[in-house]
Amino acid sequence: TQTLQDGQLVTVDAYQGFVYPGEIELKKPEEKIEAKVPTGPTVTQVKVNLVFPNRLEEIAPKADGVGLLRIEHMVIKAGKHPAKLIKDGKSEEYIQILMDGVKPIAEAFNPKPVWVRTLDARSDEFRNLEGGNQEPQEANPMLGWHGIRRSLDEPELLKAEFEMIKRLHEEGLTNVHIMLPFIISVEEFLKSREMAHEIELPDTVKIGIMVETPASALTIEKFCEAGIDFVSFGTNDLTQLTLGIDRGNKNLAHLFTETHSAIKKQLRYVIKICKKYNVETSICGEAPSNIPEMVEFLVRNGITSVSVNIDAIDRVRNQVADIDRGILREILRS
Ligand code: PEP
Ligand code: MG
Repeated sequence: TQTLQDGQLVTVDAYQGFVYPGEIELKKPEEKIEAKVPTGPTVTQVKVNLVFPNRLEEIAPKADGVGLLRIEHMVIKAGKHPAKLIKDGKSEEYIQILMDGVKPIAEAFNPKPVWVRTLDARSDEFRNLEGGNQEPQEANPMLGWHGIRRSLDEPELLKAEFEMIKRLHEEGLTNVHIMLPFIISVEEFLKSREMAHEIELPDTVKIGIMVETPASALTIEKFCEAGIDFVSFGTNDLTQLTLGIDRGNKNLAHLFTETHSAIKKQLRYVIKICKKYNVETSICGEAPSNIPEMVEFLVRNGITSVSVNIDAIDRVRNQVADIDRGILREILRS
């Protein structure tokens, strides 16, 4: 942010972590993962977090589903603010943008589940889009008008997202489900479900929540009683909110630690309660992609699946297989 200029064209080599001036052609480096005995399915499933329908032939066979499909980037790529589209009576255009992004993923993974997260854009991320000048100026967008709280204030957007899911189910893609972000109360879940009923979403659509606020973690039993179908930990936000650390503040980055015992305590508690109610648990924050200790902790606590970044699938799958074998050995020994 100190070297680059606004509007400057650069190429980001996200394989290696380099930024080059101008537009250059990049090659994918040699795979660095050590060859290991290929692992079959693991007891704890390994899913993937996705943003775009890219590299699906390579990714879909080795992941047990999509544990988080973020739709914000599809919308940003289309360049138009969805609230403006809706306001201009172009909800069909919004539905089409989403269909174009989600459908190829649903097809590639079918019948494995794909959890599509409803729109979770922070106000600062959408301001540059066409029609984005209406976005409010917020002192801290991370704690602002985003996630399910915003979707319920702008129901026409949420309805369009549900409509997209409905059409996919009507086309036989019954593996696509809905995940509600940044939720803090059962009422938000109930209102969303009511809206799903209003637009006659079929029963085949599961509705789950992201557990990424301490409010949802600590009251998880109420959500289970209300009938959520699954939960997924958003440890990026859960860490931010539990430790009081703005995710975007570089001065605090060294304190940002998902393995803090206050986070682990919430994860362990939520998994335990969800097991009691037979509610599936997963994680889609960055933690298991980067921190092997977190994978071990979650698997040993009985999480149903971990969802990781594309480049972490093989490594995490191998680790989960090792943990599975370790647990089996311990059982046999005792
Ligand atoms: C999270 O908060 O952990 C998460 C997965 O959502 P996002 O990073 O998109 O806020
Ligand atoms: Mg989040």
